[in-house]
Amino acid sequence: MPEKIVLAGHYYNPLRESNHSRFKGICTDPQGLDWTGIIAEQSYTPQARKGVFKKTSFDFQGALECALADKYPETVAEIRVNMATRGVADAYIHPLLPDLSRVDKQIVIGAGIKRFFDITGKNPRFIWLPEAAVDTETLEVLIKNGIEGFICAPNQVVLNDGSDPNNVPTRIKPPSGETILALTYDQALSHKLAFEDDKDHPLRDDAYKFRDLVIRPALDRLRNGFPLMGYTDGETFGHHMQWGGDFIDTLINRALPEAGIEPISINEIDFNKVTIAEGRIWDRSAWSCLHGDLARWHGKCDCCGGAEVGWKEPFNKAFNFLNDRITKIIEGELGSSYIEKMIANFDQAFKNPGPPATTPELSLISSKVSALTALTSCATFFGDPHVSGRINILHARVAVEHLKDAGLPNRARALWSTFLSSMEQVWDPTNPGKTGRDMTEKLLRDRSYC
Ligand SMILES: [Zn+2]
Repeated sequence: MPEKIVLAGHYYNPLRESNHSRFKGICTDPQGLDWTGIIAEQSYTPQARKGVFKKTSFDFQGALECALADKYPETVAEIRVNMATRGVADAYIHPLLPDLSRVDKQIVIGAGIKRFFDITGKNPRFIWLPEAAVDTETLEVLIKNGIEGFICAPNQVVLNDGSDPNNVPTRIKPPSGETILALTYDQALSHKLAFEDDKDHPLRDDAYKFRDLVIRPALDRLRNGFPLMGYTDGETFGHHMQWGGDFIDTLINRALPEAGIEPISINEIDFNKVTIAEGRIWDRSAWSCLHGDLARWHGKCDCCGGAEVGWKEPFNKAFNFLNDRITKIIEGELGSSYIEKMIANFDQAFKNPGPPATTPELSLISSKVSALTALTSCATFFGDPHVSGRINILHARVAVEHLKDAGLPNRARALWSTFLSSMEQVWDPTNPGKTGRDMTEKLLRDRSYC
């Protein structure tokens, strides 16, 4: 019997430009670089050509696919064709789910699952959540959507028997009574795929050495019938790690098969042959901050290396305020059925270029979709909002533009004015004396105002 391994990649980049025609050409990168295009050339396209999506498992975010579709159709086609067998679902966009209301959780999870179904003709078994961030309410929404399991870091799970939660499928039972599986990856393997701890003694310079020194010992740790699982950013191979495309190609296509180690899909795992543990999750935990309560994104831990991060709370407050106000507007205009309408039309609303290719109802839905996209967590991941904060600002402005397109110009104008005032409480540590309002006006220039 060959030994089995699941090597999986999380593929994500935020939508750095707007799909709205009046906001085309606004570049959110301070140096004017198209990072998504650069990473496509370094990672996504070479990996597609080397057959990586045929041998690994992956989540590939809807927002990223949207950014790539026109310029890299062959790459996107390769990803889509492998999604049914190798893919797991995602949330389409990248807000931290525990920070959202229950209804907003339903919308973004529903949109991600619908996209998976539209591409594959199948309901997804598993899902990767933004930053793997979970709370009990998120799990309840996943269960209602028929999701069998979610992937997370071992530090997000506690087993009832107190044993090591690495690489263990764990049954989680939220108060609603139904259950869902937490699939924890192997931390040591995943870390070594992503990082080179000792530059003088690299492990990733040779896929055969990596197999023997990292994967073999990890296989020896297996104990429950669950295959060894490593999960890392898909951008590792080619972007973060310049020679990574060759590394992953050699690993999955030659080094592992030659040793009788089969890279299988996460969707092939037969849970009838796996011992499932019982446990619970740490509410509001994530894979890239170990401090709990999503501390990194709220400026409450030292993940950002001691940077001055007091700007994060007013930043979050401004964008949450905008999203809450737009929720009230769309609920008032469309009634509670707006939730189903948003899930059904999320993809079209996300790509809505504005008039004449829209309707008042679609523009309302697009407004709310843009407000949720403006909650993308990348800005608050870092120590300052200098690079990624502009992305949130652009989508907030576009959310308000869609309100105008929906025939609500006065409410749009008033909401944007209040948003700008709230951005006066935000500052950028890299740009002393400048507020979030200054950042907004500098980015948007003549499109700063409604
Ligand atoms: Zn932290």
